[in-house]
Amino acid sequence: MGFLLDILLPRRCLGCGRVGEYVCFSCRRTLRAIIPSDSVCPVCQKRAIGGATHPVCRGKWRIDGLTAFFRYWGVLRRVLKTVKYRSAFDVAGRLMALVPLTSHNLIPLVKNGFPAILVPIPLHLERQRLRGFNQSELFGRIFASAAAVQVEPGILTRFRMTVPQADLSDRKRRLANIRGVFRVNKPIADKYIRQPVILFDDVYTTGATLSDAAATLKRSGFRFVWGVVLAR
Ligand SMILES: [Zn+2]
Ligand SMILES: [Zn+2]
Repeated sequence: MGFLLDILLPRRCLGCGRVGEYVCFSCRRTLRAIIPSDSVCPVCQKRAIGGATHPVCRGKWRIDGLTAFFRYWGVLRRVLKTVKYRSAFDVAGRLMALVPLTSHNLIPLVKNGFPAILVPIPLHLERQRLRGFNQSELFGRIFASAAAVQVEPGILTRFRMTVPQADLSDRKRRLANIRGVFRVNKPIADKYIRQPVILFDDVYTTGATLSDAAATLKRSGFRFVWGVVLAR
């Protein structure tokens, strides 16, 4: 079946359209890995070597740090926007294989003797059904297997679609709209509550999603939450 599909719909590079691979050799060469000294604090978004939240930016419900693998730029931007179910696994595997080890080394995989668990940022179920898969979970699973980290997607759920901000009348409702999009599944969470959490998302833009998810996890008892994203 795969063979037949390749004849009917030949693989084309999602970056430049060349036939052959989903991400061709010359497009792979344009990926820009983020070096440790280019990391930012996930609270104030200013430079923070290694990605740990600045001491002055720390807070009880705040995220503890952020590791981003690549710049959200050029081919990667196009790939993440256009990848479809059929090609997603192949593309994700190739991209994750290019993540430099220096990035892996920044991520705290053990904290106070407890091994980390990886929690992908969930999509709203309705959106996931339309799209066919959760991109963050797919990339997260590939990273987790390389780093030998357990994945537990059942801890977080996104319980409603976020209404576009412009549709909401007053400021109070706008704030409520961004807050509290996630819910923790208590019985599952309690099994891992002492473990550090690696919160995985595909793209980091404003940081609002990761901050919200991290706060939700911390309010339900998790002590350490570190964000990891494919691109920033
Ligand atoms: Zn290409
Ligand atoms: Zn900061």
